[in-house]
Amino acid sequence: MLKSMRDAIAYASENFGPYQHKVARIIEFPRYRRFAQSFPATMPYSEAIGFITDLRDTSRIDMVYYVVAHEVAHQWWGHQVLGPRMQGSTMMVESMAQYTALMVLEKEYGRGAMRKFLKYERDNYLRGRGQEGTGEMPLMKVENQQYIHYNKGSVVMYGLRDFIGEARVNAAYRAFVDSFAFKGAPYPTTLDLYRSLEAVTPDSLRYLVEDGLKHITFYRNAVTSANAKTNADGTWTVDVGINCAKLYTDSLGKETEVPMNDWLDVAVELEGGGEMKQRVRLRSGPNAIRLVVSRKPKAVVVDPDHLFFDREGEDDRREVE
Ligand SMILES: [Zn+2]
Repeated sequence: MLKSMRDAIAYASENFGPYQHKVARIIEFPRYRRFAQSFPATMPYSEAIGFITDLRDTSRIDMVYYVVAHEVAHQWWGHQVLGPRMQGSTMMVESMAQYTALMVLEKEYGRGAMRKFLKYERDNYLRGRGQEGTGEMPLMKVENQQYIHYNKGSVVMYGLRDFIGEARVNAAYRAFVDSFAFKGAPYPTTLDLYRSLEAVTPDSLRYLVEDGLKHITFYRNAVTSANAKTNADGTWTVDVGINCAKLYTDSLGKETEVPMNDWLDVAVELEGGGEMKQRVRLRSGPNAIRLVVSRKPKAVVVDPDHLFFDREGEDDRREVE
């Protein structure tokens, strides 16, 4: 917990601006309740979150390290910058704390752990929207809906970082903090955050900000064929067929297909472990891609890191013939 505190303070200080207090402390309370919270410089934790967590199985996500980083991040997101009482406000607090925690987690545990975490977030988002009783909102209009500002927020903010670059998106977030930290009304809205992001995003990637924040966006991707043959130099050529569609969803789940010409990762899993990953442009309908790998290929996966949402995940992976 202390290491996560130090790591999160270091990351956020470097990227978003200085920490505003002289101390940072964690308080333990009994597990009548199970939550953690962030007050100025002071973060109360249920005994059940962290203090008695069994972390001996190292293949699991270190939720203690992650939750502490999230609460520390609120010293910036929620304490330095806070929004008004309106749509989108909790994105500036919770999605930004998630993003910060994910960056700290990635530095400590590597990208492999992030794939697992993003799948967990994606699944929780899909489950959450399935239980929505009123109407699903796009991320930047979130109405304090947890499955949106936590689970979807993680995936969207991590994805923007992955495509636009950490230095660039952090420059946008720093500019946002510089403009609004410790200020009273008028408070910033997600329109201000959106403009900060737009300012650092190349034209070719603008659609990612729009799809992630303004729309409820899904892909319907399926690997329809994967055939490999050996080459004279010992490498393998893999011919892959991928069927794609992009859909915008309204608040009640009605899907409308929109034209797609987007970047997605395609990975070839190799026999004996490891993979070769490439970012490719995919269009609506059938796509044919050719990839060359150094070892015998085992399977092909579209969007292996779970950076986007696809309601039918089973057909995203196919064994190579
Ligand atoms: Zn939080």
